[in-house]
Order: sequence, then structure tokens, then C-alpha cells
Amino acid sequence: MLSYQHIYHAGNLADVHKHSLLAWMLGYLTRKDKPLSYMETHAGRALYDLSDTPALKTGEAAQGIGRVRGWFDDAHPYAQVLDQITAEHGADAYPGSPLLAAKLLRDSDSIHLAELHPGEHAALDLAMSPYDVKCHHRDGFDMAFALTPPTPRRGLMLIDPSFEIKTDYADIPRHIGKLARAWNVGIIALWYPILTNKAHQPMLSALMGAHPEALRHEVSFAPARPGHGMVGSGMFVLNPPFGLKEEAARLAAKFKTLPR
Ligand code: SAM
Repeated sequence: MLSYQHIYHAGNLADVHKHSLLAWMLGYLTRKDKPLSYMETHAGRALYDLSDTPALKTGEAAQGIGRVRGWFDDAHPYAQVLDQITAEHGADAYPGSPLLAAKLLRDSDSIHLAELHPGEHAALDLAMSPYDVKCHHRDGFDMAFALTPPTPRRGLMLIDPSFEIKTDYADIPRHIGKLARAWNVGIIALWYPILTNKAHQPMLSALMGAHPEALRHEVSFAPARPGHGMVGSGMFVLNPPFGLKEEAARLAAKFKTLPR
């Protein structure tokens, strides 16, 4: 049974890392007047209320976007969506990755989202109802295999698991290998946590061994609570768009200014 709920972590420093790079990539891809396919294997509920008890309980959003919103100027696609969501839903609203995609993509683009948790899927369906997207209540990798290669071929897949199931770390390199073989032009972006127990390391070694040309980008930060096992955030991107490396370096410099 799935128990992870992203509301406890929405808007934390890992979300800032993942969401700002995702928004930058989508902003870059939409500069060209050619349609895109966007897919997400682990969508979450898309719209978060940071004044909800779980978010206040962990305080992760306050340490995250609440502290670093000023890093992103008005021209950054992440800042543009944050402003739109504030205008539409209030100051405590925070967009998850599906909403970032829906706001940044165009009518000509297609969006497929998978979410397996029944409650999160219902919330996703509701949050995304104003947009022309397809929300699948199924396993994210099953959806990804069924839709890959997508039409149009140009596009991006975000893989953002909760890593609740211990086999996730072992399965992901195999799953990404299969997706990359079926869709060799696709941008496939995986988020992963940097953990003090190093549980992510074998997965990463397997991924880098199989795809040495991929972009691996990591930022580190102080744990959200004393003893908390996550001390950083990583993105592994196959077929990274031109300029992503430089954008990631700009972001890393900002993370380095945070107190440890
Ligand atoms: N991508 C979201 C964002 O950045 O806003 C956050 C997603 S959260 C880290 C991971 C989500 O994956 C959870 O909502 C969880 O219920 C869902 N999930 C877990 N296992 C899944 C599976 N096998 N297929 C699809 N969704 C799954």
C-alpha cells in the first residue's frame, strides 16, 4: 500500500531544484514552434496548500521556496508559474510538476500523467480539470512503456518516484534503459534523493555506467530536521537540452549560499 504524500515535502529545497530545472527545460523547448509530448510517471496531486497541517508540520516549504523565492527573477519560467498560481489560488498555493507543465506547455502539446495512489489521483484529476491533460490511475512505468515512443516524438518524461518501494532503486536503471531504447530522442529526467545511507548510489552508478553522456546534477543542503536522511537532491537527464548544464550550474551556485 502506498503511504507517501508529497504535501509533507512540497516546496522543499529538492522541489525547488527539480521544479526550477523542469520549468527551465519546458521554457526552452517551447521556444521552438513544434509540438511536444510531456509525460510524468509519478505525478502527485499537482496543487499544494502550504498552509495545510502536514506542510506546516515538517516546515520544509518554509525552508525551501519560502526562503529562496528571490533566486528566480521574473523572466524565469518557474517564477512565472509561481506568480500565476499565487494569483489564481492565493499566497499559500504551490504548483507541483504537472501544473508547471500545464502552465508552460501549449494547446498543441500533449500531457499524460500517472498517479497510483487513489486519493492523490482524485486530487490530481480535480486540480488538472481546467487543463487538456490525461490523468492515468495506473503504475507510472506501465503508462510510460505503453506510450513510448510518444507522438509527437519531441518531448520530455519526468520520473519522480517516492522511492517507497525498496526495489525502485534496483528497477529504475532497467526501466530507463528500456524507455531510452524505445525513445532515443526523448529527454528523460529522473529525480533522486541524496541520502546519508547512500541507498541511491548503486542506482546512480548503474545509470551513469549505461548512459555516460547523460547530465547528472546534484545540490546539497542541510537536512530538514536533525537526523533526517536526505541531504541533497539529484537530477539525471538523458538527452539534456542545450544550455541545461549552464542553468544547473547557476542554480548550484545559489544552493552553495545556503547556511549548512
Ligand atoms: N512529481 C510530483 C511533483 O514534483 O510535484 C511529486 C511526486 S511524489 C514525489 C511521488 C508520487 O508518486 C506520489 O504521489 C505517489 O503516490 C506516486 N506513486 C508511487 N508509486 C507509484 C507508481 N508505481 N506509479 C505511479 N505513481 C506512484
